[in-house]
Amino acid sequence: MITLKGAAVSAKIKEEVTELLRELEGAVPKLAIVRVGERPDDMAYERGALKKMENFGLQAESFSYPADISNEDFQAEFKKINENPDIDGILLLRPLPRQINERDIEHMIDPVKDLDGISPENIARVFAGENEGFAPCTAEAVIEVLKVNDISLSGKRVSVVGRSMVVGRPLSMLLLKENATVTICHTRTKEIEKTCQNAEILIAAAGQARMIDSSYVGADAVVIDVGINVDNQGNLCGDVDFESLNGIASMATPVPGGVGAVTTAVLAKHLVMAAGKRRGSRS
Ligand code: NAP
Repeated sequence: MITLKGAAVSAKIKEEVTELLRELEGAVPKLAIVRVGERPDDMAYERGALKKMENFGLQAESFSYPADISNEDFQAEFKKINENPDIDGILLLRPLPRQINERDIEHMIDPVKDLDGISPENIARVFAGENEGFAPCTAEAVIEVLKVNDISLSGKRVSVVGRSMVVGRPLSMLLLKENATVTICHTRTKEIEKTCQNAEILIAAAGQARMIDSSYVGADAVVIDVGINVDNQGNLCGDVDFESLNGIASMATPVPGGVGAVTTAVLAKHLVMAAGKRRGSRS
């Protein structure tokens, strides 16, 4: 079984980012990372994103607020960031605490700065199969992993386990755009193992530690693991029991070191694209 490493895909995206940066004639795009509270997974994602922006030659600034900030105060702070002309793109770490109306923020964010596809405008574009706008970075990262590794999607049977608005649903739309035949599985799917076994490409985005073992995987399938979980021993792991796929799957992504590393590279690419769009609209 071949291990599909995220670092190689990220390096390819870096080449694209460098090319796009040239068109900005010296301007260095700036990312705002917005965090409420101190959830360890948010902090880990923030650290990874900051490191990636630095590595790609981009600017990033963290804006963090206490977990008990009021809805009114957070909206006022978010508005300032959204309207700040020095900021080209925004990454909002979610879910937000209960007192904050996430829907209002989704409607408020400038679609051009919405690098992670949370605004209704960007979501609609993903579902309409349009090229404009930004898809959620993780969903797009899965497509990048497949493309960079020359795994064609056209006509392929692809099963996606998970139907969230962050990963499963937008990813299924991106796969459909590439002419894959997509089956979306979830907690009500009957005989899920059998459905998954039939897939030539299986994508796990369920958020269940090592749920996908050899009983879900058909011979020579490609398995992409989006999951980021902590197991009973406190170790980071994916949704896939990687070792159990040896001798069955043809290729699989590891966790860590797989899709996660590509997600922040896609974020960087979206940032440079957003900066280009903003410059274009000003001239
Ligand atoms: P989520 O909102 O909890 O959604 C999980 C989805 O999986 C739901 O649709 C759920 O079905 C389905 N599911 C859960 N258990 C299942 C089971 N036993 N059998 C079949 N389907 C099942 O999670 P998410 O935000 O989409 O994230 C999914 C995973 O990706 C998490 O581990 C998360 O940490 C990770 N993630 C990774 C990245 C990255 O950059 N790599 C980014 C974002 C998220 P129902 O709809 O029926 O409940």
